[in-house]
Amino acid sequence: MKQTLIIGAGPAGLSAAFYLARSGKTQVTVISNDQSALQRADKIENYFGFAEPVSGRQLLEDSRKNAERLGVAFIDTEITDLQINMEMKFEAYSSDGEKRIYDCVLIATGASRKTPPISGLKDFEGRGVSYCAVCDAFFYRGKDTAVIGSGSYALHEAMTLANTSSSVTVLTNGHEPSFEATGKIRVDKRKISAISGNDRVDSVVFEDGEKIDVSGVFIAIGTAGSTDLARKVGAPISGSNIIVDEKMSTVVPGLYAAGDCTGGLLQISKAVSDGAAAAVNMIKFLG
Ligand SMILES: Cc1cc2nc3c(=O)[nH]c(=O)nc-3n(C[C@H](O)[C@H](O)[C@H](O)COP(=O)(O)OP(=O)(O)OC[C@H]3O[C@@H](n4cnc5c(N)ncnc54)[C@H](O)[C@@H]3O)c2cc1C
Repeated sequence: MKQTLIIGAGPAGLSAAFYLARSGKTQVTVISNDQSALQRADKIENYFGFAEPVSGRQLLEDSRKNAERLGVAFIDTEITDLQINMEMKFEAYSSDGEKRIYDCVLIATGASRKTPPISGLKDFEGRGVSYCAVCDAFFYRGKDTAVIGSGSYALHEAMTLANTSSSVTVLTNGHEPSFEATGKIRVDKRKISAISGNDRVDSVVFEDGEKIDVSGVFIAIGTAGSTDLARKVGAPISGSNIIVDEKMSTVVPGLYAAGDCTGGLLQISKAVSDGAAAAVNMIKFLG
């Protein structure tokens, strides 16, 4: 049976899961790290089907139970990388150290994170500041690089860079790293004041006035967001949104996106509708 991955267990991902599971055409796996925007919503009273306000957490729990009842498998982990292999299948890498293979993928990871307000970061985008190690590591082969972040995603990006860079420093910007540094990778916990350079990045300056010389700075704060994942498989983005057509399809065959990560109205009703539309078209794609 064909294998489908849904990244994200918010309204978009779960809505898609219902349709895909009920089609009987595919085994559906939802991978999520339990951080839906809806968890933070205390009372919902603008969504269909309730006489009284309902909490976001309740909506998510009941919807997950429904998906499980329909045969959807759930894995609680964080996707750190997405690749397409020679057989045109998707390889999903996660913080539990696994690589899993799928025929079709839906990105339903919610609104992208904001980038940190570090001086110089925006100015040097495309000139030494990157958001995708697998895409850009090659440009920094034999050079010193840095990754800004402190979690599994930062470690994953650092490990990718370590294959080609001469050194990789993970800059946690005042946070405790969630991992042990090994091999070529070192960690610096100092607060960052600026990314600096002339035409291109040449250093990162800390609040204590010291600096380290690097040619490339990779941003990997928190978890891999929707645009990070889209970039890794070559799906175009616009600002912080993944570009999709009316079928919720990206330009990459088999890769779909739904919900807040596609922009527009950032509401449950739109996420649910997107998820359903994506699923219907994914079922067609799977044949
Ligand atoms: C405080 C608050 C109140 C709100 N109130 C309302 C309201 O009253 N009515 C309304 O209609 N809308 C409300 N919203 C908006 C609503 O919550 C969102 O529009 C909706 O949750 C979007 O659904 P989604 O599925 O696109 O993304 P989300 O619900 O954000 O779900 C994203 C999913 O992706 C997962 N994920 C992300 N990255 C990864 C990764 N790398 N690996 C694995 N999993 C990942 C997350 O863990 C999560 O499961 C509110 C939002 C907030 C923050």
